[in-house]
Amino acid sequence: MNQRVFSGMRPTGQLHLGHLAGALTNWIKLQDGYDCFYSIVDWHALMSDYADSSKIESNCREVLIDWLSSGLDPEKCVIFVQSHVPQHAELHLALSMVTPLGWLQRCPTYKEQIINIQNKDLSNYAFLGYPVLMAADILLYKAGIVPVGEDQSAHLEIAREMVRRFNGFFGEVLVEPQIMLTPTPKVPGTDGKKMSKSYGNSINLADSPEDVWNKLRTMVTDPAREKRTDPGDPEKCPVWDIHKVFNNSDSEKAEIAEGCRTAGIGCVDCKKKLKVHVERVMNPIREKRAYYEKNPDLLGDILREGAVKAGAVARKTMDEVVAALGFVRRG
Ligand code: ADP
Repeated sequence: MNQRVFSGMRPTGQLHLGHLAGALTNWIKLQDGYDCFYSIVDWHALMSDYADSSKIESNCREVLIDWLSSGLDPEKCVIFVQSHVPQHAELHLALSMVTPLGWLQRCPTYKEQIINIQNKDLSNYAFLGYPVLMAADILLYKAGIVPVGEDQSAHLEIAREMVRRFNGFFGEVLVEPQIMLTPTPKVPGTDGKKMSKSYGNSINLADSPEDVWNKLRTMVTDPAREKRTDPGDPEKCPVWDIHKVFNNSDSEKAEIAEGCRTAGIGCVDCKKKLKVHVERVMNPIREKRAYYEKNPDLLGDILREGAVKAGAVARKTMDEVVAALGFVRRG
């Protein structure tokens, strides 16, 4: 089986507990057994932030520090910035030739976001073509495995169709990737909706213990449990959903659920217990963050080395693609 893994994140802001549980924890596990390429996909960020690209650079730095602090290890995986490897743009162009517009127009994420995102003008070509660039990212590395959330599965299917179409025209050059769905439930944010940087409800990996507690303290709970003496229903409480992800003590979780149902414990008690588990997870992340913030030169070195390693694979694939297309060779 193809053991190459590719995944990426857009540098659009600080990462949060949802990214940690829903993506990074799995990425960190994979780096021990697979040949992993993880990319900070800045071209993808430009797609939505083109009117003001001023934050993309600092966001790349934030994402890199968040990744490294969480446990991605540049000795075990390749970490790089998408735009440092120009072949992403080149393969995107080649793939755009074999992508029928209907595939992109029918894509559920496109249809949904074009209606829901009101604060940005997304009537640009790149927004429609997002899955083409994403396919280029994956196919450039001939990745067999792409660990992403359910929300990305339609994009993966388009990438697979593109491979079949491209190979049908030009020969067996590209490799069909398989999706690896991360089996983590959605982490809710402080308002109970999915934790997301765009909803302003997130607990960020860079938050201080005080910030974390202030957010947890004011987080919504089971709305039917108005008074301390009212029994609650954990299954209707987003705080409980976070316990399920970060609390590693089954006996404590059983006590909390029982205490909630019988009004034996209050919501503040439950949140205090959750804080202990969130801090257990976040403290080592904070220690590593402090180390990288004190040694900023390391960040540049990691990205330079990552671009060299990723570039070597990307150039090889692109040479094969150009040869398959039958273009005149460089002398
Ligand atoms: P955001 O909604 O904050 O912009 P992204 O869409 O950039 O986050 O998320 C990238 C990936 O991180 C998702 O595909 C998913 O795997 C994971 N992820 C993000 N938010 C959550 C969450 N609240 N719960 C679980 N996983 C999440």
